[in-house]
Amino acid sequence: MTRLRCPGCGHTQDMAFDLKGSWRVRCHACDTEFTIYVISSSPVEYTFVACPECGDTESIPRLGEQLQLTCNSCGRSWVQSL
Ligand SMILES: [Zn+2]
Ligand SMILES: [Zn+2]
Repeated sequence: MTRLRCPGCGHTQDMAFDLKGSWRVRCHACDTEFTIYVISSSPVEYTFVACPECGDTESIPRLGEQLQLTCNSCGRSWVQSL
């Protein structure tokens, strides 16, 4: 995951770039097109979490420090610290 800042309006957006190279990106906010260069690929790390209600496990991307999750099996919502 790469955080991009638009040179036009400063809007930031997260995009998943796993490949090295240069990419044309269009800002979601102001429609400016700009080029980004990915010089190293950093694949998103995944981790397993277990539902506190039913124990069902699923893999989630480690993005940020806390994620609001909803169990696919029983529908329980909880906040998971990463
Ligand atoms: Zn913009
Ligand atoms: Zn569950």
